[in-house]
Amino acid sequence: MEYTRSREEIRDLATGLLNSAGAGGQLPVPVDKVIDHLGYSFEYFQPDTSTRSIAGAVSHNEKTVYLNSEDTARRQLFTLAHEIGHIVLHLNEGSDDQDFVDYRKPGPKTSKEKEADTFAAEILMPEQHFINAWKKWTGIPSLVAASFGVSEQSVKIRARVLGLR
Ligand SMILES: [Zn+2]
Repeated sequence: MEYTRSREEIRDLATGLLNSAGAGGQLPVPVDKVIDHLGYSFEYFQPDTSTRSIAGAVSHNEKTVYLNSEDTARRQLFTLAHEIGHIVLHLNEGSDDQDFVDYRKPGPKTSKEKEADTFAAEILMPEQHFINAWKKWTGIPSLVAASFGVSEQSVKIRARVLGLR
């Protein structure tokens, strides 16, 4: 039975990381600073037929996150934050197979994938900033999304999680 962290636990890890990376309080969140702080870098890959369905991946040996160059900038940002979630949450958890490859596919997710998605939301849309932006833009998802550099879908999910809609 895998242990799944609570949202609050993931939020506190994300907040701590933003602060120690000197990225707290800036919007959109400078995710490149965060990944630098962890000693990782990121690069884009040009998908071919075998990798077309991959959104991103993280290699701990290479200390590199790979992002699909054909995705939108907002999608790439979310994927990058998701992979940072794997680095922070799952690096030292047991198996030899610690690298993650993430596919663009809907459907049921493992608890690690859910945790990485939650982490991404907490990094990209810090709670208090999100609540402020939601009020400022009177809950119009496209405007809130623009201030965080995320998709409208991510904003809608975030608003629901925080009980704003
Ligand atoms: Zn993942």
